[in-house]
Amino acid sequence: MRYDPELYRKIVGDEVIAEIYRKSRKIYSKYILNVNSTYQGGGVAEMLSSLVPLMNNTGLDVDWRILHGNPDFFTVTKKFHNALQGAEINLTDLKKNLYVKTNEDFSIYTHIKHDAVIIHDPQPLPLIIFYKKRQPWIWRCHIDLTAPNPDVWNYLKTFILRYDVVIISDKEYRHNDLPVEQRVIMPAIDPLSPKNMELPENTIQKYLKKFDIPMDKPIITQISRFDPWKDPEGVIDIFKKVKEEVDTRLVLCGNMATDDPEGYKIYRKVEQKAKSLIEKGDVILITSENNILVNVLQRVSSVIIQKSIREGFGLTVTEALWKGTPVVASNIGGIKLQIKDGINGFLLDPHDIDGFAKRVIQILKDKELAARIGSKGKESVRKNFLITRLLIQYLDLLREVLS
Ligand code: UDP
Repeated sequence: MRYDPELYRKIVGDEVIAEIYRKSRKIYSKYILNVNSTYQGGGVAEMLSSLVPLMNNTGLDVDWRILHGNPDFFTVTKKFHNALQGAEINLTDLKKNLYVKTNEDFSIYTHIKHDAVIIHDPQPLPLIIFYKKRQPWIWRCHIDLTAPNPDVWNYLKTFILRYDVVIISDKEYRHNDLPVEQRVIMPAIDPLSPKNMELPENTIQKYLKKFDIPMDKPIITQISRFDPWKDPEGVIDIFKKVKEEVDTRLVLCGNMATDDPEGYKIYRKVEQKAKSLIEKGDVILITSENNILVNVLQRVSSVIIQKSIREGFGLTVTEALWKGTPVVASNIGGIKLQIKDGINGFLLDPHDIDGFAKRVIQILKDKELAARIGSKGKESVRKNFLITRLLIQYLDLLREVLS
């Protein structure tokens, strides 16, 4: 049965599996509710789609609900998201009212009788004010909180202060002005999900054909929502430099998350910028939502780029490392937790286009280096970033808050 911890045994070993069962023992049949704002697109949905069934298979009763919002709501919450990552915002009452009212409406038909509640990211954060608090509430923030916009941070604290625990992805996101326990739990990937599982060669070939991706030259890829923080335009600049020295092709693959209204705008900008390269077939843009395709791209690419300007964690980096593909990425946020420069990947200043291009060229020219970096990458994920570790940390936390 999929999501049976037993299936993970051959990857993580007996000890880890026994630990999962041991740690769930004290919280059997506890009702846990997760709320976020999209079933698909982005790292939160990616993790919940494995973590929630896995938790149910270890003896807990875990629900996952999606906050309903209209496009205006998601425009406002994306602005809050951007502001938490440091962008400017005009924090009007109109925005605040829409934000809170959407949460209030959802609360009317969402009954929470669970033993604990886990709220993901800012969209459903205000829900807490619409319930009589009968159980621990945990706010799981997946965003890079290095330098949040002070107005938004101060406003969101209205809600955050009511929570029992805040989970962040990196200790650097901890805020001394937030007198709530802030616990670091790094995200993780599911090695058995369609996105990360081993693929037979004929499946790989089938997908390359289906999505029109020729393999006559090496491929460089960035897989990310079309989002200013992922800097797809910067990736095109890097590609142009690389292309002066090595003949390659660039793939930019970015699905559209239902809670991210910026996607189409950024996509069109990228399309404009890369127009002639797209016409020549040197740049391929993909917007399909397809886990196997992502898996294929992460396996067939010679280099995976992650040129983010801010990155809460960056599951795309973890996924690529797991496939043994060399990663060249920005030295920021959660990416720093995953890559040791020159050991299991390369890190660069996010604005250093020349530096990025140099590293990509180096990997393209040196197969031995690529293989060495790639195998270290895979090992680092096996040790630190598999979903079994994440599951254990959630079980620990739930046991604590429920005892
Ligand atoms: N993703 C995808 N298709 C795409 C682009 C992204 O399935 O076209 C997935 C990606 O594989 C990863 C998640 O969306 O699992 C993105 O998570 P990450 O932490 O990298 O960034 P976020 O989007 O949450 O900022």
